[in-house]
Amino acid sequence: MNYLFTPPAVASVPIRGSDEYFPIRRIFCVGRNYEAHAKELGNAVDRESPFYFTKSASHYVSSGATVPYPPGTANYHHEMELVVAIGQAGFHIAEEQALAHVFGYACGLDMTRRDLQAALREKKLSWDIAKDFENAAVVSALMPASTIGHPGTGKIELKVNGDMRQSSDIGLMIHPVPALIAHLSRYYHLQPGDLIFTGTPEGVGPVVAGDRIEGMIEGVGEIELNIGAAE
Ligand code: MN
Repeated sequence: MNYLFTPPAVASVPIRGSDEYFPIRRIFCVGRNYEAHAKELGNAVDRESPFYFTKSASHYVSSGATVPYPPGTANYHHEMELVVAIGQAGFHIAEEQALAHVFGYACGLDMTRRDLQAALREKKLSWDIAKDFENAAVVSALMPASTIGHPGTGKIELKVNGDMRQSSDIGLMIHPVPALIAHLSRYYHLQPGDLIFTGTPEGVGPVVAGDRIEGMIEGVGEIELNIGAAE
């Protein structure tokens, strides 16, 4: 096949303890999955069903990168999240079977242009340009479930320049990982390579050029991001 131009490389996440990479197919993100975070942004908590937005795989950036301060915002926020990596296809997955579809877990940063999100939310418009932009999906090396199991609880923390900004526990998710997989798989045929950002706890806030973000999830790993100057 002759392409008009060279197709972009598939965005791929390193796997801890392996020389293999996990190619990203799709990136699903869960909104308002921790009560204290929903409240800090003035949103009601929906315990009935999770809601989602998506990010492009091409907007992935690896942990440890330095990214330019993004255009079009004056309020660029960090959101520290547990990321689930799907390793086995499934549709209408039962909650009891959900974890069998998980390859592993990673730390993620759902970077957000908060001022744009707030303005779009106000107008009841799509969040796309607030959430799905270049370098907005930061993911650490994947930890296989075969190594770490399926963490249901554990500290989740984020520091900016050494100061603690987010500190919670993944056990406080409103919709835990098995429930998310069961629900999402009613709307999509989940496939190997799909990533699910599972939502952020409270304490989100702005970063500026020169800042260094360090996050961790107990039993999963660590993530770093450096914010460079605007281009
Ligand atoms: Mn988020």
